[in-house]
Amino acid sequence: MHAIENNIKKLNLRIESACKQYQRNPSTVHLLAVSKTQPAESLANAYELGLRLFGENYVSEASEKMHRLPGDIEWHFIGPIQSNKSRFIAESFSWVHSVDRLKIARRLSEQRPNDLEPINCLIQVNISSEEQKAGISSENALTLAEEIMKLPQLTLRGFMAIPSPTQSLENLENDFANMGQLLRQLHTFCDTADTLSMGMSNDFELAIKHGATIIRVGTDLFGPRQQQK
Ligand SMILES: *Cc1c(COP(=O)(O)O)cnc(C)c1O
Repeated sequence: MHAIENNIKKLNLRIESACKQYQRNPSTVHLLAVSKTQPAESLANAYELGLRLFGENYVSEASEKMHRLPGDIEWHFIGPIQSNKSRFIAESFSWVHSVDRLKIARRLSEQRPNDLEPINCLIQVNISSEEQKAGISSENALTLAEEIMKLPQLTLRGFMAIPSPTQSLENLENDFANMGQLLRQLHTFCDTADTLSMGMSNDFELAIKHGATIIRVGTDLFGPRQQQK
């Protein structure tokens, strides 16, 4: 059996068992295959095994892979967004997880072609680590949400978080719980907010416990990353 096939089986078992343990409906937890640094062949493998959601962090790398892979893949941009790369993201991705400022949100809305559905947008929240630069504070996230809701070519779907990996399990759980709380607050004034993108290879069970609807898995799906960009 191919390594990726084996990995997908193991992941599905972990997801199923977490859903059972935490009383989540498995159809509400989506596996995003985080494919940064992985060759297009590995993505094609995962595609053949049924995966359709792929997450990429770098624009140039994503553009190389996209035209070598089937057209019905749902591409998610999950990396830091540079202003000069926003057009490609607006034109080529279905989802963007890493919106953390209004300037970028406005550019994405302006650059999203009118013949495409609005791009699904998540606000990245800097939930735990002081040293982390990406993400808006949770205090300011709802204010940014109100502004993003006014933009015609964006559909605000919820939040994304990358908690600090070095902290205690208790703090990590606290971060995930706070994200769940934040989504519930957003949902009181935003009907389209139904998504929490959180949980990676090492911690997605805990994220599922606290309401993750997209888990972003790289290493435990594709194996160790290739040379970092
Ligand atoms: C690389 C990456 C992941 C995947 O992490 P793994 O620990 O390899 O599963 C998830 N989310 C983001 C934003 C990433 O950059």
